[in-house]
Amino acid sequence: MFDLHALLDGVACFFYPRRCAVCDALIPPEDALCVTCADALHPITEPFCTKCGNLKRSCECKEWVYHFEGCAAPFCNSGAARECVYGMKFSGSVDTARFLARLMAACARVRFPGVAFDLVCCVPMHPATQPRLGYNQSDLLARALAKRLGLQYDAKALARVAVGRTQHTLNARDRFDNVKDLYACRRNLRGKTVLLVDDIKTTGATLDECARQLLLAGADAVYCLAALVSE
Ligand SMILES: [Zn+2]
Ligand SMILES: [Zn+2]
Repeated sequence: MFDLHALLDGVACFFYPRRCAVCDALIPPEDALCVTCADALHPITEPFCTKCGNLKRSCECKEWVYHFEGCAAPFCNSGAARECVYGMKFSGSVDTARFLARLMAACARVRFPGVAFDLVCCVPMHPATQPRLGYNQSDLLARALAKRLGLQYDAKALARVAVGRTQHTLNARDRFDNVKDLYACRRNLRGKTVLLVDDIKTTGATLDECARQLLLAGADAVYCLAALVSE
């Protein structure tokens, strides 16, 4: 049968050749990374903590009591995976988001077996920040992920209601204080199990506060999924 999408993809690739999201090399239209960069992605194989999602050796569960049930990510925040995610942060590439979402979906199936999610939502940006970029990278990932997992996506389940200070300039304790009440949930989530998506989990302060708001809105349980966790 005549495939219009394939034809349009072919035309688009002729005028705008697909490039590797990490090294910018030319790649086939169906890929997101070149073979070398794809081989350099190292999914987490070391023992990891099922609660905070970090490697066991950097587990932070003794310091913080998280509101979410568990957190997972396919990669640590280093190497080619880091370059790929940071590249998407600045390019807003939907192709890279789709590529990462495929790997995150596989991670969710392994790490959260048997959990029946009712919906996917993302960590929102403040409305003052998003127009500058034109997109929210967590939204790009969550949207692609929900599609891949066949789940409902609610882009507006969470809203960022205050600006707060930039997280990366703060120490861990201040990060948890800084995010308090920065987010609000505008839905009735009674009885729902939620999969909350962000691009990078560092201390987990943002994910934790978003999870707290989702629980306040009635959610039964919140699980977090990111592309990267701290090593
Ligand atoms: Zn490459
Ligand atoms: Zn832990």
